[in-house]
Amino acid sequence: MPATRTLRAPAELVAAGLIAAADLAAVEVVAARYAVALTPAVAELIDPADPADPIARQYVPTAAELDTRPEEMSDPIGDAAYSPLNGLVHRYPDRVLLTPLLVCPVYCRFCFRRSRVGDGGATMTEADIDAALAYVLARPKLREVILTGGDPLMLPPARLRRLVARIAAIPHIEVVRVHSRVPLSDPGRVTPDLAAALQSGRGGAAVWLAVHVNHPRELSDKARDALALLADAGVPLLSQTVLLKGVNDSAEVLDVLMRALVRNRVRPYYLHHPDLAPGTAHLRPSIAEGQALMRALRGRLSGIAQPTYVLDIPGGFGKVPVGPDYWDGGVGEVRDPKGRTHTYPG
Ligand SMILES: *Cc1c(COP(=O)(O)O)cnc(C)c1O
Ligand code: SF4
Repeated sequence: MPATRTLRAPAELVAAGLIAAADLAAVEVVAARYAVALTPAVAELIDPADPADPIARQYVPTAAELDTRPEEMSDPIGDAAYSPLNGLVHRYPDRVLLTPLLVCPVYCRFCFRRSRVGDGGATMTEADIDAALAYVLARPKLREVILTGGDPLMLPPARLRRLVARIAAIPHIEVVRVHSRVPLSDPGRVTPDLAAALQSGRGGAAVWLAVHVNHPRELSDKARDALALLADAGVPLLSQTVLLKGVNDSAEVLDVLMRALVRNRVRPYYLHHPDLAPGTAHLRPSIAEGQALMRALRGRLSGIAQPTYVLDIPGGFGKVPVGPDYWDGGVGEVRDPKGRTHTYPG
């Protein structure tokens, strides 16, 4: 029977047929460490009979998460070192992140903020928001404010509207970008009210939305309707995909996903190499594998369907594209999509 409310307790996952009763004890240990939640919209995408289900792999906790590797870190991209105020991360000269809340409708097993997100996760108070906006106002080099979390579309539309309007009213802010999984994980939250909240930036700043989507099956009928509502409201849409072993580490899956995004008016933006979040080794492919997949996409997909493959360098050193490179500047050779090399004078 389809779930009608969010599944959180490991016993509920057993009852829903998503984990075996024999795994309950281990999953209880995982759930005590990292937040667990599957919305009905996500749970109904899972085929419980398929032990390798790519949706289940993203959301259903497993004992593999208890295996923490020495290279893994609780703050893998070094947010803390660049966080001068509660809820604000300022790593790049022209843009800052704000994390108004650290809750999400679902909790991804590979989340890079998994040590912080969850129902007990800190939320910015009104005083924190005031302090963050004063920080932005005082720094005219800033051009973009990125709302992330947690999932900022969990904010009630009235609060979101006020926040977006206040940010967009800052004279030097040109872009407000919202990063969210809500259109897929809880599409019922995408209402005309929510779209209007995003539009409250009009006149002051352009409001962009980047949706986090990893598998074509996440683009359900309801999710596609949610994306259409936002696109029709004039919100430019981007996507971010995390490359995950056993979920989307195949050229076929990425091909179908990127095409489906473009067809739904979402421009593929980033393919993220997974961060070194604790207990996620079983989900991380190698960078060489990621590069081979990107090469395969270059040959077979439209340019507007090509994401950039990026790594966020551990320690807070920033995101960089990790190839593959087609131009070998040293020897004056360029590689074509089929892998053949040609000379070019440089
Ligand atoms: C990822 C990130 C951004 C956004 O980077 P883009 O390359 O513009 O998408 C901004 N600030 C911080 C701290 C980040 O980690
Ligand atoms: S939606 Fe984003 S912030 Fe929330 S658990 Fe997933 S990866 Fe983490």
